Amino acid sequence: MADMKRVAVLGSTGSIGTSTLEVIARHPGRLRLVGISAHSRIEILQRQIASHRPEVAAVVEEQGAETLRRIAGRRVEVLQGAEGLVRLATHPAVDVVVVGTTGPEALVPLIRAIEAGKQIALASKELLVMAGELIMRLVHRHKTRLIPVDSEHSAVDQCLRAGQRGEVRRLILTASGGPFLNTPADQFDKITPEQALKHPVWKMGRRITVDSATLMNKGLEVIEARWLFDIPAEKVDVMVHPQSIVHSMVEFVDGSVIAQLGTADMRQPIQYALTYPERLESAVAPLDWTTVPRLDFSPPDRMKFPCVGLAYAAIQAGGTAPAVVNAADEVAVEAFLKQRIAFSDIPKLIAAALEDHTPARADSLDSVIQADAWARAHVATHVHRVRMSVTSQVQVD
Ligand code: MG
Repeated sequence: MADMKRVAVLGSTGSIGTSTLEVIARHPGRLRLVGISAHSRIEILQRQIASHRPEVAAVVEEQGAETLRRIAGRRVEVLQGAEGLVRLATHPAVDVVVVGTTGPEALVPLIRAIEAGKQIALASKELLVMAGELIMRLVHRHKTRLIPVDSEHSAVDQCLRAGQRGEVRRLILTASGGPFLNTPADQFDKITPEQALKHPVWKMGRRITVDSATLMNKGLEVIEARWLFDIPAEKVDVMVHPQSIVHSMVEFVDGSVIAQLGTADMRQPIQYALTYPERLESAVAPLDWTTVPRLDFSPPDRMKFPCVGLAYAAIQAGGTAPAVVNAADEVAVEAFLKQRIAFSDIPKLIAAALEDHTPARADSLDSVIQADAWARAHVATHVHRVRMSVTSQVQVD
């Protein structure tokens, strides 16, 4: 009998989480859902419990956990708070933990899961950007496996199977280019949240959608690749590929380039991470070549999209600098979505945080969390200043 993998999904109510539940439901003989978690979206969690029947559900928000216990406590064991997430991630009945939450609150559960020897399917690039060195060291120490769910990194992982690690010349991450690929740079300060939230290819959470518009998402993915594949950032390149059909590529030393192509559907990388090293049939639509007119590739415009360069600068600075870039970006994007700063202020705020930060070693959870908190406070202060200066300009006018 083929082995059954028992799965816990951290962040089951988000877009990665809901797709993961679909993948699991499609393969009842191979994948079994043991547990799910959410921050506070109890209604969705309740529906998921009714249709997918996990044994355990964790809710970060205490109030939400109480509510869930009241309405579904007979059907499912309800865990609560940060401790509840850790208990789910280290649950003895779990083989694979899917990490689909984006915030730093998933960092501790992820680390505990690795220490407990669980396999990890990681969708949250933020965690690798914050603490990649620490996470990968633990993965090796505990002899477990971390398979990326991010579509580019899943593509790289698939392409790497065509050769040996020592034979890799470079990784080429593809980027859709986002909605402003052809918008002149001088119009960037007028971009509205509504415009930034319209991604041409993928339907995702709000932060990652804005990150795709600034290309910070690609910058974070360069950092993610650096740790995931233990490769220097100089060997990780970015190519804008608006059709998003080639999900990424690996160039080998003999000049051969292996690419992974497919329909843009997150269920593919999710299923690959869950069933690795096997491939099973899936609901992903086959690539329809009659609708593929052409495949374009061009290097990103780094003047227009400074976030790409900021990510490389963060790796160069080392230590806690990537954690600072990640946190600074998150706070800056929030401020933009609340219309407190302009779209073009996002890279400026990240650059200011990076410049003012003295990197510490990123080899402990404490130092990473400290850098994260420092960056959030730094950007919050600067958002305030940006706002004050905008207000005073308005008054002068
Ligand atoms: Mg991606």
